[in-house]
Amino acid sequence: MRQIAYQRAGSVDEAVQAAAQPEAAFLAGGTSLVDLMKLEVLNPARVVDVTRLDLSRIEPRADGIRLGATATNSAVAAHPEVKRRFPALSQALLSGASPQLRNVATVAGNLMQRTRCAYYRDLATRCNKRSPGAGCDAIEGWTRMHAILGGSEQCIALHPSDMCVALAALEATIHVRGQRGERDIPFGDFHLLPGDHPEREFALEPGELVTWVFVPATAAAARSRYVKVRDRISYAFALASCATALEVANGRIRVARMALGGVGTKPWRSLEAERMLVGATPRAETFRRAADVALRDARPRRDNAFKVELAKRTMIRALTLSAEGA
Ligand SMILES: Cc1cc2nc3c(=O)[nH]c(=O)nc-3n(C[C@H](O)[C@H](O)[C@H](O)COP(=O)(O)OP(=O)(O)OC[C@H]3O[C@@H](n4cnc5c(N)ncnc54)[C@H](O)[C@@H]3O)c2cc1C
Repeated sequence: MRQIAYQRAGSVDEAVQAAAQPEAAFLAGGTSLVDLMKLEVLNPARVVDVTRLDLSRIEPRADGIRLGATATNSAVAAHPEVKRRFPALSQALLSGASPQLRNVATVAGNLMQRTRCAYYRDLATRCNKRSPGAGCDAIEGWTRMHAILGGSEQCIALHPSDMCVALAALEATIHVRGQRGERDIPFGDFHLLPGDHPEREFALEPGELVTWVFVPATAAAARSRYVKVRDRISYAFALASCATALEVANGRIRVARMALGGVGTKPWRSLEAERMLVGATPRAETFRRAADVALRDARPRRDNAFKVELAKRTMIRALTLSAEGA
């Protein structure tokens, strides 16, 4: 039996102070953390409950929307301003997990959910993310649900979130508070590539608390779309997904943003594919060329070569829907 201290934080300052202690973890909806504690994959000595903090507000502004860290996935997905100005975000959230899970899962918890890699979750196997330097049984193992982009020789674990794919395409910013004050982290810098240190997953200092996420409003964001392909129609992680945001003027693409899910070790953005789209006519051949570029560096393993073409088609579909809305 392992002793775990539980502390309910009454204020953001108190939460940050409590998390400065060794082996502390914030607890939000608990749908990811508690699972992993039961499996003994994560073993915090202290959990700091942040669910009572005043961080659940969803605040629309002229230049965007601020999503409190403890706003639930359901509340964000259903918010009329999110649906109107950032449809891909609402669509991505609604495509994830189940209504029961979305009712308790939070913005920050979703940002920081861990990989569903079966080897990471199984203590009987080797995993560099769980035990640095142990080796990786996934690389020569069953790889159908693993990443084809952004992997290293140490780790090919897939990033699982749907919400994060939309936030990557929408160029959100993450606001955090720690012992040394507050700062903003651009979305693309928040999740780290595994490289030689797959155990380092986020650009956070120990004990830093996510307080809110800001999503900028743009004409492209208002026409954003999310497409997810999976083994069954609900309650399944993505085999491939794509969030796109396009602004089209006079028959040409003026602004293009896109991110892929289900294929990368982090939400995967191809700036080169976005650049190719700008100035082009929004049609199937243009989208196919951009998709070829976005997947050019894909490195499939034994069981996941199918994801290359699947991701391209998912991206073409999402771009087509965004263009039709534009
Ligand atoms: C059966 C099942 C199916 C699922 N299917 C999907 C799916 O299809 N798509 C998808 O995207 N997701 C899916 N999920 C994952 C789900 O979205 C996440 O479990 C959920 O979003 C985590 O949010 P939470 O609030 O419960 O986080 P918690 O479990 O409470 O915390 C998760 C992590 O975030 C940290 N944390 C929480 N709040 C903060 C904060 N404010 N600052 C810093 N760190 C913080 C915690 O310390 C922990 O490390 C599924 C989960 C389950 C169990």
